[in-house]
Amino acid sequence: MKRAAMMLAVSLAISMVVVACASMQLGGRDLVAKAVSAQGGPEALATVKTLSYKATIRQWEPEQSAKAGGEMRLAGDATAVAVTDVATGTTRTDWVKNSQYPAPRTFTFTEIVAPEAGYVAGIDGNSRNKPSRDANPPAHSMSSLRLAAAQRELLAASPLLTLEMSKSPDRVAPASSVTVGGVRHPTVDYRAGGHTLTVLFDPATGLPARVRALDYDNIWGDVTWDLVLGDWQTVGTTRVATSRKYELNGRTVMEVKLSDITLNTPIAADRLAIPAPFLATARKPAAAGVPYQWVIRRQLVGFYLDSEHPSYDTQASPGLRLQELAPGIQHVVGGSHNSLIVEMKDHVIVFDAPVSDWQSTWTISAARGKYVRKPVKYLVLTHHHMDHAGGLRAYADAGATIVTGQGTAAHFRRVLAAPFTRNPLLSASDLGRTPIVEVMGKHVLSDGQRQVELHVLDPNPHAEGLLIGYVPDARLGFVTDIWSPGAAPLPDKLNPALASLVAGVKKAGIAPARFAGGHGGVGDYAPLAALEGK
Ligand SMILES: [Zn+2]
Repeated sequence: MKRAAMMLAVSLAISMVVVACASMQLGGRDLVAKAVSAQGGPEALATVKTLSYKATIRQWEPEQSAKAGGEMRLAGDATAVAVTDVATGTTRTDWVKNSQYPAPRTFTFTEIVAPEAGYVAGIDGNSRNKPSRDANPPAHSMSSLRLAAAQRELLAASPLLTLEMSKSPDRVAPASSVTVGGVRHPTVDYRAGGHTLTVLFDPATGLPARVRALDYDNIWGDVTWDLVLGDWQTVGTTRVATSRKYELNGRTVMEVKLSDITLNTPIAADRLAIPAPFLATARKPAAAGVPYQWVIRRQLVGFYLDSEHPSYDTQASPGLRLQELAPGIQHVVGGSHNSLIVEMKDHVIVFDAPVSDWQSTWTISAARGKYVRKPVKYLVLTHHHMDHAGGLRAYADAGATIVTGQGTAAHFRRVLAAPFTRNPLLSASDLGRTPIVEVMGKHVLSDGQRQVELHVLDPNPHAEGLLIGYVPDARLGFVTDIWSPGAAPLPDKLNPALASLVAGVKKAGIAPARFAGGHGGVGDYAPLAALEGK
């Protein structure tokens, strides 16, 4: 080809690409404009200065199920009254949350989310940070992680999202259409702060149908987190979705029904004000590194520790540390969730992989420092719940065999086969061939010197196939969630969980002097056993 002809061909190709991009770009903006108009038009949406509504909410947690991979646990029902002041970007939500798990308990609290600070008045869950415990009445400012997650979720659900997108066209990018339930949705990406929301439009009405975030989940790896909008109703001059469903990888984990929606009802300024002492200590929203699924779903199930670090309360603990319980046995403590490291002849065994791969990496490195040239050969997972198993990939990546309770191996095989390209710590690799040992009743890990016994606690009220560990030479047991030694004084009589442990110890024929906990610390077993029959 002659040079001139080639140049022409190249410039034609370039201009075709430019035209294609421009039309896609335009397509993205067109979709947003169409959505704004379907909601009443830019002028109508611009008249919205305040917004308020009531919501009835039902929440489930799939990774807190009784059976691994089984039916989701009903976390509870809630009602909420939310008011938003558009000019200041501040939302107040008054919650009454009737939690069903682990036992019925009502939480009545208020959240105020502003652009630069977040605040909680009242007790909002079972895992309270130090400022909340110290304040009277209970209150605390939100961590940067919680604030960032709350802001993202409020933006995704805002009836004014499309208007905001139309005002920031440079942050709107075209995206490939997405097919859900046989419907092909034209789609755009919207970059807001440190995250991106993918908005799927209803091809028939032009309204937003789903707002999707591509998150990392500590159990299922790469997940879609979809807010499904429905039941659009006319409120004043605009249209608002009165049904919000949240889907984790296509499973509905939260249903929200809106009622009593009003626009432009004045809000007294003090209702949106964060009290000065809390404003002074409030953190700005985290710009990056937010473990959204952890932050959102631990709140959903009522066990979120509102802290700058997901593993420990930064205002109460300097961090994780090892506590020697017996020769060659270290308890990983200092956080909300513990592990146990047991030294063997040429390797170590670790019990539980709580919270995240960050915590696992800390534990693996602490074990290496203590027991040089002894790799982690076995990771024993007491049960499948996301808060005790969510750091399993770091162990699999380090070459450990996963040891799990009866009826859970197939679940963990699926978990390890799931892609995890969005894992903040581990580069993607194939963990699908990680060896898994399923304990049927009883299993002994032995190196010819030390024995470590694993017993399935059957029955128990917490999780099917739950394992307890026992090191006979130290007369030390390890138990998670059934008993948290030292976390609270023993009750006057056995509750179902404690009764299952006492029965399980008897059935296993073991003689523990102490138990170390997946929560709490270490406790003598005799006082617990003595409660039998009381
Ligand atoms: Zn559990």
